[in-house]
Amino acid sequence: QQNLVDSYTFDNFVEGKSNQLALAAARQVAENPGDSYNPLFLYGGVGLGKTHLMHAVGNALKAQKPDAKIVYLHSERFVADMVKALQLNAISDFKRYYRSVDALLIDDIQFFAKKDRSQEEFFHTFNALLEGGQQMILTCDRYPKEIDGLEERLKSRFGWGLTVAVEPPELETRVAILMKKATQARINLPPDAAFFIAQRIRSNVRELEGALKRVIASAHFTSKEIDIELIKESLKDLLALQDKQVSLDNIQRTVAEYYKIKVADLMSRRRSRSVARPRQVAMALAKELTNHSLPEIGDSFGGRDHTTVLHACRKIKELRETNSDIREDYKNLLRSLTT
Ligand code: ADP
Ligand code: MG
Repeated sequence: QQNLVDSYTFDNFVEGKSNQLALAAARQVAENPGDSYNPLFLYGGVGLGKTHLMHAVGNALKAQKPDAKIVYLHSERFVADMVKALQLNAISDFKRYYRSVDALLIDDIQFFAKKDRSQEEFFHTFNALLEGGQQMILTCDRYPKEIDGLEERLKSRFGWGLTVAVEPPELETRVAILMKKATQARINLPPDAAFFIAQRIRSNVRELEGALKRVIASAHFTSKEIDIELIKESLKDLLALQDKQVSLDNIQRTVAEYYKIKVADLMSRRRSRSVARPRQVAMALAKELTNHSLPEIGDSFGGRDHTTVLHACRKIKELRETNSDIREDYKNLLRSLTT
């Protein structure tokens, strides 16, 4: 079982500032598997291209060596396979299988959290593969140190190779991605139309793809050319929703940009002032500008408790009265988020 997605290649991946490091690391691993970037650990929010990149490495390895055993699987599948092996008394087959691979790609390893037996098994597999110089690529929706319910020894090992963040794509990259996808679908997407979609759909690449698909379908069914009129019509509900609501996503991105830190820093456990203060500002803005509950807001900041959000809101309220920098920052951010 190899389950590599053929279309997830380096050729089909659009490079941008947000994914530059991850792409460079992935290419490096494709050239020198099992070498110094082992494991390659990619982390970041949903729909940003982590899965695509890990398959791209797999496909590249496969192209170099067609009989290489490249195994891709989701971490939940690893857990399920292990449970089954335990039930069938076949755990030694399980071990043998995972240790016989040339490369092991495990997606979304946050699902290993609290699965102690799976972590134990994976720990031994990990050590065996590292020892054997077999490449591992792991992805996660957050920085490994911040996965609650994951053993310390695993967290520390995940950092032995190279850990790289994938950030949300900036406008130019979103435009480039749309143009590329349109070209692949042999669709004529005028640049101003691509720009319009990219400006409005800002959350992640998956959403962007979804929006483009809808536009293409509607052009197809109405036999019209794609223009801004057609886009407005076919994405009406989506755009209305966007206009009405400042999303948590948007707040996090805007705040990170404003303070010149990474969105990933806002989600992280880092407590240094340069990160903690912006995080509190972002939480307070989220409370003020969205209808999300405190637990929901806490959740979107790397799974924090609602009391943390409450504390942030109080702190920022107080600082806006006593600290002119924070007052100014908050005012600027409010303005850029609501106009
Ligand atoms: P993640 O694993 O980070 O949630 P995926 O790798 O599943 O994200 O990406 C979501 C979709 O967006 C996929 O269809 C993928 O091909 C596409 N995608 C993401 N980033 C890029 C990129 N830089 N260039 C082209 N397509 C991309
Ligand atoms: Mg993924």
